[in-house]
Amino acid sequence: AAALLEVTDLSVEFAVRGQTVRAVNNLSYTLGEAETVAILGESGSGKSVAAQAVMGILDSPPARITGGSVRLRGEELLGLPERRRRAYRGARISMIFQDALTALNPVFTVGDQLSEMFQVHRGMKRREARARAVELMERVRIPAARTRLDDYPHQFSGGQRQRIMIAMALALEPDVLIADEPTTALDVTVQAQIMRLLADLRDELRMGMVLITHDLGVVAGVADRIVVMYAGSAVEQAPARELYARPAHPYTAGLLASVPRLDRKGAPLVPIKGAPPNPAALPPGCPFHPRCPRARAVCAAERPPLAPVGGPGHSAACHFAEEVHGAGAR
Ligand code: SF4
Ligand code: MG
Repeated sequence: AAALLEVTDLSVEFAVRGQTVRAVNNLSYTLGEAETVAILGESGSGKSVAAQAVMGILDSPPARITGGSVRLRGEELLGLPERRRRAYRGARISMIFQDALTALNPVFTVGDQLSEMFQVHRGMKRREARARAVELMERVRIPAARTRLDDYPHQFSGGQRQRIMIAMALALEPDVLIADEPTTALDVTVQAQIMRLLADLRDELRMGMVLITHDLGVVAGVADRIVVMYAGSAVEQAPARELYARPAHPYTAGLLASVPRLDRKGAPLVPIKGAPPNPAALPPGCPFHPRCPRARAVCAAERPPLAPVGGPGHSAACHFAEEVHGAGAR
């Protein structure tokens, strides 16, 4: 059977001041029902751009998809006319963003915004649509949902607004939910609750979830597979458990060493030195080499391809991936 979502060799370029910049370089991943793939990277790594390309909401121009394929249950989405593509957004693939306040309209009640989804897309009458809006708010665990229907977004807490945004994204029961940094603006406790909610809804609705984040801590326990992006390219992908236990790329190992983790209580946090490169002027060879503690001469000369290492589904783009993998996480 075809995978739920299959992204193959996706490439996106930007035209910036007469220069062409590769924002996403041959990105591939697959997603099954009730599965989560986390796309991990620093800001500017291309992770959000890749998600926008899959969602069909890239700003183009200046962005342009230059190659690859995005298939939903076997059907190619790239190149579909905008009119057809629009029918997929929300209904088949839905997306939530970091900032719930800008996604919700401050001048309409939450009940109106939720029920509008059903009136516009499902042709329901107001009364039926409002009943469905209550169900949705209950589904995302807004307490006393029935009494909150006529409240405005600002009357909800940040975490509740994020839940309402999730409710909006799920109204039409999409096959795939893309969540771009969905908890970044929230405090740690609320982050954990929202991640739990997303994972529960994924299982309940058998949705595929693409989780975009800069934070390895947030996706632990939720992601089935992780794709690590650096400077527009996937530098490592692996089943989550394998990636945490035995990273094969020094960048991933660096990320793991730089965030607090329950399984490494007390271990000192070591930030990765330096900053990600300017995508318009990538260093030669391995793009990570100026920051890499393991870099040798070959690293500045030859770009390592993404190649299998370790167990099934694990690959890394490093000349010394075997060695790094063999060392295990510190
Ligand atoms: Fe580091 Fe070299 Fe591997 Fe790049 S190829 S990650 S510079 S060891
Ligand atoms: Mg982003």
